[in-house]
Amino acid sequence: MAFFNLFRRQIAPVGLVVTTNINHLHRRFLSRLQENFEYDLVVIGGGSGGLACAKEAVAHGAKVAVLDFVKPSPQGTKWGLGGTCVNVGCIPKKLMHQAALLGEAVHEAAAYGWNVDKDNLKLDWSVLRQNVENHIKSVNWVTRVDLRDKKVEYINGLGYFKDKNTVVAVMKNKTEKVLTTKYVVIAVGGRPNYPDIPGALEYGITSDDVFSLKTEPGKTLVVGASYIALECAGFLNAFGYDTTVMVRSIFLRGFDQQMAEMVAAAAAEKGVKFLQKTVPSAVEKTEDGRLLVRYTSAEGQQGSDVFDTVLFAIGRKACTDDLQLQAAGVKLHPGSHKLAVNDIEQTNVENIYAVGDVLQGKPELTPVAIHAGRLIARRLFAGATQKMDYADVATTVFSPLEYGCVGLSEEDAIAKFGEDNVEVYHAYYKPTEFFIPQKSVRYCYLKAVAFKSGDQKVLGLHYVGPVAGEVIQGFGAAVKAGLTIKILLNTVGIHPTTAEEFTRLSITKSSGLDPTPATCCS
Ligand code: FAD
Ligand code: NDP
Repeated sequence: MAFFNLFRRQIAPVGLVVTTNINHLHRRFLSRLQENFEYDLVVIGGGSGGLACAKEAVAHGAKVAVLDFVKPSPQGTKWGLGGTCVNVGCIPKKLMHQAALLGEAVHEAAAYGWNVDKDNLKLDWSVLRQNVENHIKSVNWVTRVDLRDKKVEYINGLGYFKDKNTVVAVMKNKTEKVLTTKYVVIAVGGRPNYPDIPGALEYGITSDDVFSLKTEPGKTLVVGASYIALECAGFLNAFGYDTTVMVRSIFLRGFDQQMAEMVAAAAAEKGVKFLQKTVPSAVEKTEDGRLLVRYTSAEGQQGSDVFDTVLFAIGRKACTDDLQLQAAGVKLHPGSHKLAVNDIEQTNVENIYAVGDVLQGKPELTPVAIHAGRLIARRLFAGATQKMDYADVATTVFSPLEYGCVGLSEEDAIAKFGEDNVEVYHAYYKPTEFFIPQKSVRYCYLKAVAFKSGDQKVLGLHYVGPVAGEVIQGFGAAVKAGLTIKILLNTVGIHPTTAEEFTRLSITKSSGLDPTPATCCS
């Protein structure tokens, strides 16, 4: 009877049709009992990848626990269940991005006849912050309820390994909960880096803090020139805060550099200031409580300025320090805090897998973590064999001018296949909706990087302009399906949209013809 009850616990919660999976579940249950493990799977880290993996695993009948624990930021910021994306990443960022776009839209609305007092626009930071926070709290709550409904055991504890089948959760009150398990998935993500300069840790903030600042940011220095830096600088500037970005080398490393320069130029046109080829050397508190930042240029010139907020967006470090990986025999990628895995996300220890931002050399994006997490669960518990394909993952920088892309940059395509084998189609365009408010269209640009010969398989698509994320999402599927220039140009567009420009690309870079239409780019 005890056996029956235990077995029923495995299948009843997920409502599976018993006949289809019973043998599979039965075998797994017996195997767990024989091996004396309490769980089929323990996931360390309840963010995008970990939660997706855990939920998928229970859907296939596994007994699963998820450990999630958030250490406060050096400034004391804490948050709830769901990981970086929900609490201090994609979601608050997208909401602030939307607030920035709305501010711009009010100016345009006047040209369309709306009676708005556009000269007295002012963002109320506390209202925005509070509403963003409320949304995040509601997502935290829904996530918790979802885990409970799906019978994923959620443990609010910091996980570490005792051995390869034993994970210990250190609870808030410092008591320890020991869990034995057949498999472990490490999904601990990362946290922002601080530079090793005086005052950085004491006075600086990161993306962990910026979305929940109790007082408005004021004049802000953003250090770094990649996704997070440009996105945060973009919305802060749009909110009316004096914003400077300190750039160590190039913009958006790894992205198509023509597009990256365009994103930065658009930000500069909107008022963001740039300190090029410069790094900070110290942050000090002034007598009136502001922050004096000293900096050095690549030529060795010293400078300083006073800010209200200093935001470091200089990359992230994987959270592997607390895991005591050596107890399980798991090795880090040499010289890194990240984990190297094989093509089924398996670490060097057979029963231990890893997913998401903790992985070496993989895109640090939420949908990547989610997809890979689900596939691990399906392979472990549903007999699936599909592997994660990390190629051609579409992404967008919300800066707030959006830059979306999928596939190779122009320079990477040329480096990989040679200049003679690569053709680049490009165009500036003028979105219809830009005409009435006479919006600057200098930065509405797109290009397709393709092979020069045959049907011209598309290697990369790049788009700067309105709703780039939405535009590139669909084209991402097409690229995955082997899109060619021939297919692209044979696709009938939707008029009048900006995305349709991709279907009428006709000018190649090699032709030297001007990609600017007559009505564009004033
Ligand atoms: P995480 O979501 O970071 O989750 C890991 C969880 O594990 C955390 O809750 C952590 O506290 C917990 N943890 C760590 N160590 C332990 C331990 N020992 N025990 C228990 N729990 C532990 N991606 C996009 O796709 N689109 C975007 O627009 C986007 N915007 C972003 C904006 C910002 C500002 C940032 C910082 C990131 C953004 N990202 C975006 C990236 C995205 O957030 C990450 O790729 C994604 O969250 C990674 O998921 P993960 O599961 O690997 O880790
Ligand atoms: P990145 O690692 O992408 O970039 C770090 C930036 O900081 C670079 O510009 C780098 O310059 C600079 N930098 C590094 N160290 C220093 C230093 N000591 N002093 C000054 N500058 C320094 O990190 P991010 O934090 O921007 O983003 C992390 C990840 O989060 C991204 O890879 C992305 O996958 C994800 N993300 C996704 C978003 C989206 O999908 N829209 C949005 C935000 C984040 P250099 O080039 O010289 O090395």
